[in-house]
Amino acid sequence: MKVVIIGASFAGVAAALEVRKKQSDAEILLLEKQTTLGYIPNGLHLYWEKKISDLKDAYFITQEQLEKQHIRCYLAAAVEKIHTKQKTVDYLYQEQEMTIAYDKLIIATGSSQLSQKITGSDNENVLKYKRHHEAEAALAKMEASQSVTIIGAGQVGVEAADLLSKQQKHVTLIESMDYVLFKYFDQEMIQPVQQKMREQGIDLRLNQTVSAIETEADQQVTVRFGNEAVMSDAAILGVNVRPDLRFLDEHIHLHRDQTIAVDRYMQTSAKDVFAVGDCIQLAFGEDDETVYIPLVNNAVRTGIVAAANLIQPEVEFKGSLRTIGTHLFGYYIASTGITEAESLFTGQTVKACRQEVRLTSLPDADTVMIKWIYDSASHVLLGAQLISTSNILEKINTVALAIQTKQTLEDVRQKDYFFHPSFSQLISATNLVSWQEVRDDGNED
Ligand SMILES: Cc1cc2nc3c(=O)[nH]c(=O)nc-3n(C[C@H](O)[C@H](O)[C@H](O)COP(=O)(O)OP(=O)(O)OC[C@H]3O[C@@H](n4cnc5c(N)ncnc54)[C@H](O)[C@@H]3O)c2cc1C
Repeated sequence: MKVVIIGASFAGVAAALEVRKKQSDAEILLLEKQTTLGYIPNGLHLYWEKKISDLKDAYFITQEQLEKQHIRCYLAAAVEKIHTKQKTVDYLYQEQEMTIAYDKLIIATGSSQLSQKITGSDNENVLKYKRHHEAEAALAKMEASQSVTIIGAGQVGVEAADLLSKQQKHVTLIESMDYVLFKYFDQEMIQPVQQKMREQGIDLRLNQTVSAIETEADQQVTVRFGNEAVMSDAAILGVNVRPDLRFLDEHIHLHRDQTIAVDRYMQTSAKDVFAVGDCIQLAFGEDDETVYIPLVNNAVRTGIVAAANLIQPEVEFKGSLRTIGTHLFGYYIASTGITEAESLFTGQTVKACRQEVRLTSLPDADTVMIKWIYDSASHVLLGAQLISTSNILEKINTVALAIQTKQTLEDVRQKDYFFHPSFSQLISATNLVSWQEVRDDGNED
């Protein structure tokens, strides 16, 4: 069996490794248009945080490691057209037009930082840094810049704002919603971060939609929104990523947002063609409706699921909860499942509660603020958000598993946990403390 995979990043690599595990005699070929593979997209943030000393260290796998597993990697091989009836792929390799036949095809071409709504956003002076070469260029530009305008207050934009303001750069952050990180947090939960952003000197412009970015001859960048404009030395595009799927033929059905439609087995509408990662929509939680959730964990998990279904549909994808976690402006923040604000659009009747829980039993214990979102009738958990100045990030994975396995508030209260006074409280932070109000009144202990 010959398996051709287009795109050698998280989804494509995960699929290739899983196919190898399941089909020891399969011929596996990865076609990648860039000259390297396995770059971690927030490598530049790792560099700015001094967690790596060179962008070359921001790789999760090498070509050699893949080839040891008998996975052939064609780098600088840009796929130009697929023919799903003939089962062939045309690609450009070292300036030569090539064609390869497949038995099974996995499309893992991901996404790029693109905006069709902002005029001028495709200009190379508007920085994007998902790819290694883009990150090198963005690094050089930022080192020569004193001021920067960031468009979009999602995870990438807010992390960049934190890291660049710590380098004494003047940062303007423009967001069309009325608060930052709205996809993952309810407004009141993210207030401490937003307050800290302003204290750290970020010029935060909320409720503002960027319409155009202009690059002047002197290399200054003008970002236009409403009747206003901000000039700075550089601009970063931190808006949502989008796939580029011009190489598909007409037999692959797309969603209206131009992502590939797949079933729960990652099969497309064309026989023997699968699609994974950032180029598809996914089931969000229990919903049958699919949404676009471009995250690494989804890329890896869908890659693994596609590989398991190559011969016949066996393993269903269990859906995404859009679980994220990061550290910015002095806070560790994490989210999984739906937000309370979002529930207005999902038609679910939810309730929410917040509690501040001490993390250890020691006198100087820090706290975590947890927000639980649950179905008001069944009490089944639907979402959670955490914020703390201590590293509580791993706890979100516990809650995500609880949501994925449909636990109720009552189940979560009974969740088993360890107790050690140095590391935990009498009741685990993710156990929904039922006597919280009593404790807050000071009657605890
Ligand atoms: C700055 C930034 C930071 C991020 N940080 C995080 C994070 O911390 N956590 C997280 O969960 N998510 C993060 N994301 C999102 C994450 O990058 C994506 O979800 C993830 O990369 C998706 O993996 P993928 O394999 O589906 O696609 P991609 O990583 O987009 O890879 C697709 C690959 O296909 C190749 N390709 C595309 N078209 C062709 C073609 N025609 N021919 C051949 N090859 C092709 C591309 O060159 C690329 O290598 C971040 C995104 C950005 C922009």
